[in-house]
Amino acid sequence: MTSDVRLLGAGDIRSLAARLNVRPTKKLGQNFVVEQGTVRQIAALAGVRPGDLILEVGPGLGSLTLALLEAAVAAGDAGLVAVEIDPVLAAELPKTIADRAPGSAGRVDVVTADALAVGEAEVGAPTVLAANLPYNVSVPVLLNLLAALPSLARGIVMVQAEVADRMCAPPGSRVYGAPSAKLAWYASARSAGTVPRTVFWPVPNVDSKLVAFTRHARPVTTATRADVFAVIDAAFGQRRKTLRAALGGWAGSPVAAERLLRAAGVDPRARGEALAVGDFARIAQARRDDDPGPADVGLPDCDKCDRAGARQNQPPARRRAAARRRLPRAGDGLPRHLAV
Ligand code: SAM
Repeated sequence: MTSDVRLLGAGDIRSLAARLNVRPTKKLGQNFVVEQGTVRQIAALAGVRPGDLILEVGPGLGSLTLALLEAAVAAGDAGLVAVEIDPVLAAELPKTIADRAPGSAGRVDVVTADALAVGEAEVGAPTVLAANLPYNVSVPVLLNLLAALPSLARGIVMVQAEVADRMCAPPGSRVYGAPSAKLAWYASARSAGTVPRTVFWPVPNVDSKLVAFTRHARPVTTATRADVFAVIDAAFGQRRKTLRAALGGWAGSPVAAERLLRAAGVDPRARGEALAVGDFARIAQARRDDDPGPADVGLPDCDKCDRAGARQNQPPARRRAAARRRLPRAGDGLPRHLAV
């Protein structure tokens, strides 16, 4: 299908920002990509397929949005939902799209919301995430989206280089930590390239990298995600200590921690950085097996993400239709998630 999309250039972005009186803020991680090759590269790495609903977090002035729209048109039946926290930018984006992609504007929904708090009610059932994430909240945003949106099967995100390294690090690596282990609960992450500082306006004082991820089945365990993440947090809260010591507070005492670690088949002298997410899951399960509280009755896991498996099996076109039905519209009177 031929695309009518005209990407934004560096000059377009500066004049758009000037007209809107936008002064990029560090607080919202506002570094806009002003280079067309970069946004096309990210859109290509998203691997948009027919029936996909793309989720973009932080569309800003719309440079990546337009490249994603181009990819959505090329894929055929694909749509896009963009979540932007800045109300000025969110209000302008539909106008930019109407101006630069008039034939494709109907494929896009813009939602004014905090990506740390969105779920299906706001964005429907997206299948692929493509985003230049706000760097100060990139990990919590990604973890929230993977937890709240079980339809999200894969994605490509641009993040600060050090954060990218952590996201992709395997156990045993110097930079492996809580973000690595938590992301591994949901997905396999891999490095997808570096991005020079010069493609941004304003130029950031950190380097950037791309990370691609694919969702996989969660570890098999009777422990909940919250149980497992509590062990991960305790283990990396004191990452230089042995697990026996680091998990002492979580288990009640170092002696109790050693007993649970042995029950889970984990060496109490090991450190958290040596463990894979499956090991953390076994430790959490050992505690549940040891003392199954009332929460154990009935549901083994109240994780929204894990309960929604049936929805993941819907054909993509139906998922997208469901997404469109659920989206709030201008005039809905919703205070926080105002659709424009
Ligand atoms: N996608 C644009 C680009 O590549 O030029 C802008 C990316 S900029 C790094 C991050 C964007 O995320 C900004 O537009 C910012 O306003 C937005 N943002 C920051 N925090 C957010 C949040 N919690 N939820 C949604 N959007 C957020």
